[in-house]
Amino acid sequence: MLAERARRLQPSPTLAVAARARAMRAQGIDVISFSAGEPDFDTPERVKAAAVRAIAEGRTKYTDTAGIPELRAAICAKLRRDNGLDYEPADVIVSVGAKHTLYNICAVLLDPGDEVLVPAPYWVSYTEQVRLCEGTPVAVPTDAARAFQLDLAALRAAVSPRTKALILNTPNNPTGAVYPRPDLQAVAALALERGFWVVSDECYEALSYEGRVPSIATLGPEIKARTLVVHTCSKAYAMTGWRIGYAAGPREVVRAMGDFQGQCTSNPASVAQWAAVEALAGAQDDVAKMAGEFDRRRREIVEGLNRIPGMRCLMPHGAFYAFPDVSGLFGRRWRDRPLRTSADVTGFLLEEARVAVVPGADFGSDRHVRLSYACGLDTIHEGLRRIEAACARLDG
Ligand code: PMP
Repeated sequence: MLAERARRLQPSPTLAVAARARAMRAQGIDVISFSAGEPDFDTPERVKAAAVRAIAEGRTKYTDTAGIPELRAAICAKLRRDNGLDYEPADVIVSVGAKHTLYNICAVLLDPGDEVLVPAPYWVSYTEQVRLCEGTPVAVPTDAARAFQLDLAALRAAVSPRTKALILNTPNNPTGAVYPRPDLQAVAALALERGFWVVSDECYEALSYEGRVPSIATLGPEIKARTLVVHTCSKAYAMTGWRIGYAAGPREVVRAMGDFQGQCTSNPASVAQWAAVEALAGAQDDVAKMAGEFDRRRREIVEGLNRIPGMRCLMPHGAFYAFPDVSGLFGRRWRDRPLRTSADVTGFLLEEARVAVVPGADFGSDRHVRLSYACGLDTIHEGLRRIEAACARLDG
């Protein structure tokens, strides 16, 4: 018999939809997928060349558990250059993608029953990782009518004596919200007053369409000492498969993450680390080029979705997801049954429109679905055309 935690585990909904779309394609069905949270661009040549060099030079052995000194130095330089944050290499740890970084943070911070505040809608893995570490996720809703900005009063009301941490994600997956500095100041004041950690997931910072994303850790030494800043090479550099994420934060926490990682995985792949040195320290023109392209796609997909009766979509400020409210389709009938949930809408779009999207229920909102626009404009246009045509065929 498997352990309780293994029996409870669900496959990631994003991966489940992607797998279903792949299976349909294997049967010869032409499916358009808006499910994957990864850039369609190739990893920049300069980064690939650095990895090839590392292989040729034999840099293929175990490294320091927390990452090669060159990468930790490049991370410190990046955090200074892009975020105005000062850390030393001993305050930094590199892991197998930010997903692994976030898991390590949960593993070293949470005791059984500790509560973790998670503004909702949220990235699906936060709540599952907290549960895997025997913590209790506490979803704190945000409102589409307020563009999914933090509800500071609700956050304050959700704090309890068991609150151990808050996970902030800015820009946000799936909503695209970017939190302004005054709200971060209020969160910082609350964290210091009530004594909880802040995990600041800034993985999409390079994809922010209206100016730089402020980091809560820049708001003063006290909150910096209570914050773990989390980043990844996956999104900015189209490096999802290389699996390089990292955190910077208080040394005692980072050291514990290193000890934990040392028993679970050891270092992330040496060759990927050398590629990441080039990604972070080399010329950054490719990042801006990709972000410009995502910006164009963002406008196209949001305008297109808003033209479809029954769908309403806010303009995301960051990341590469559209998160339309599809509750206008609820009650319309497909195959003689009314659509009632985000999963119903997802099933309808997959079978009827041959378009794969992810149900919002998994992100904490059953009125929404998520579409990634990290795909070409032609795909976006064709996908929208199919969705519109399928919705027009609904009864009622
Ligand atoms: N945080 C957020 C909000 C994400 O969307 C993702 C990837 N989908 C990650 C972290 C993890 O990224 P990776 O493990 O590829 O670094």
